[in-house]
Amino acid sequence: MKWDISRVNEWKSEEFPPGAVIPEGGNSHDYNVGGWRSERPVRDDKACTQCLLCWIFCPDTAVVLDGEKVVDFDLEHCKGCGICANECPTNPKFGRKAIEMIPEGCELPGVK
Ligand code: SF4
Ligand code: SF4
Repeated sequence: MKWDISRVNEWKSEEFPPGAVIPEGGNSHDYNVGGWRSERPVRDDKACTQCLLCWIFCPDTAVVLDGEKVVDFDLEHCKGCGICANECPTNPKFGRKAIEMIPEGCELPGVK
């Protein structure tokens, strides 16, 4: 469908064609919506105490559990917001958090 928008400034609200149709709630799970992430979370299993705060706070349910343990991040749905890394408590034994945000692509050869 092609719209003639040459006189769009004169349109009345009822003349605007629908811009999107969302047939059902929760369907973002069916799509890869992690594509605009600029940073990704990386978790150090040794420093992780399995407190599950990252899982509780992640707004995209992108922290993957196996039973009651964090095992991975769902990078098709993680937006790289960093909330998990922010909420992850500092492990006193290691003096750091288990989650660190790293720039996308820095794992590629020659990228620092
Ligand atoms: S960076 Fe944001 S979206 Fe990704 S796992 Fe952490 S809290 Fe969830
Ligand atoms: S918030 Fe940090 S310590 Fe807690 S489960 Fe997540 S990664 Fe592990």
